[in-house]
Amino acid sequence: MLSLLQEKLEGAFKKLRGHAKISESNISESMREIRMALLEADVDFKVAKDLIENIKTKALGEEVLRTVSPSQQIVKIFHDEMVELLGRETAPLDLGQPQRILVAGLNGAGKTTTSAKLALLLKKQGKRPLLVACDVFRPAAVKQLAVLGESIGVPVFQPSPDEKDAVRAAQQGMEWVKQQGGGIAIYDTAGRQEVDDELLAELVKIRESLQPQEVLLVADAATGQQAVSVAKTFNDSIKVTGLILTKLDGDARGGALLSMKQVTGCPVKFVGVGEKMEQLEVFHPDRMAQRILGMGDVVSLVEKAAEAIEMEDAERLAKRVQQAKFDFNDFLGQMKFMKRLGPLESILGMLPGMGKLKDLNVDENRMKHTEAIILSMTPKERSHPEIINGSRRKRIAGGCGRPVVEVNQLIKQFEMMRKVMGNKGMMKGLMGSMMGGA
Ligand code: GDP
Repeated sequence: MLSLLQEKLEGAFKKLRGHAKISESNISESMREIRMALLEADVDFKVAKDLIENIKTKALGEEVLRTVSPSQQIVKIFHDEMVELLGRETAPLDLGQPQRILVAGLNGAGKTTTSAKLALLLKKQGKRPLLVACDVFRPAAVKQLAVLGESIGVPVFQPSPDEKDAVRAAQQGMEWVKQQGGGIAIYDTAGRQEVDDELLAELVKIRESLQPQEVLLVADAATGQQAVSVAKTFNDSIKVTGLILTKLDGDARGGALLSMKQVTGCPVKFVGVGEKMEQLEVFHPDRMAQRILGMGDVVSLVEKAAEAIEMEDAERLAKRVQQAKFDFNDFLGQMKFMKRLGPLESILGMLPGMGKLKDLNVDENRMKHTEAIILSMTPKERSHPEIINGSRRKRIAGGCGRPVVEVNQLIKQFEMMRKVMGNKGMMKGLMGSMMGGA
């Protein structure tokens, strides 16, 4: 599964390994390699281009983590972007009322097999699935569903062999479901060799009649970009709620999987990974990204290194506070840190005797204003707040659109804070009021 994609990506990352630093030039070269790997894996052109752009921007903008190599850091960025591309979060099946799932797709995509697989998956979750055959064109398909249903112990509705109208067959199916006492009904529809207007018109009618919670399109991963364009066409006509990509086990390239969400806007909800009834998996973007990269250890290594850097920053800051060297730059860093991590306690709590500051309420707006004021200061003003005289205060106020009195207030509080650095109780109160606390 996806072996070619894995191989190509591995090759691209190998070339990056020798570089000691991430620079514009070596990153461009590696990104070219990765882009080639993606295109060879049949990933949509625009999807590959955007992905590469995002990785490049992030790699160049990101703080270098000392304990990991640039290539490891890029693996992590690539991993995160791939998770994003695959849909970020697992898209759950909507099982609200009416519990109807319409399954559509071209002939041979795997509709009938997948309908039965899905029924089995739901059954294993303790639900009550029912299968409804609506393919009035191919009696063999009805028979196929009946056989599969029997093998997994799920009741199957079969329309009369004389019924030639798919919409009527679906309606009869709904009646049958009622008689069965309800359950999650999976409607397996007819396909065609390729997308045509007749098929789409028929599906629109069935959709209107059924009003299903879920419209799942089954597409064959091995057909690559063709599967993506089929999904797009179906979605434009019948508004698909989720995709099921089948035959991923036989797909070395992965182009369809990587492009689907981005091109169609629909999430992949399940993937078929074999012919057996149990071989349907709920699709998890993060797990798939790990599987493709096969570098889970690198991803967690980089995560840990990033955490370590944050801790180092926090400790360095705590030291500066203790030595009363804290300036507006530190203050700004502190605010950024807070936005990411939330608790100011994590830093102040490191100061001996400070403990946890539970009563420090942070007012978001006040924080934004404080940040805007500091950002309007020049670097020199930030590191030497004592030079901020009257005219500088006016300029700062003008720059950030806050009243001069607010600028005055912030500087005054800040000066007091620096003076009382030794007195932790007082400092806690002052920091609190600068952050908007009571
Ligand atoms: P339909 O015409 O869309 O209903 O397609 P079928 O359900 O009849 O499936 C066509 C063929 O694809 C059958 O031989 C299935 O066993 C096979 N198939 C379906 N899903 C998968 C899968 O995930 N992996 C593999 N290897 N084969 C699959």
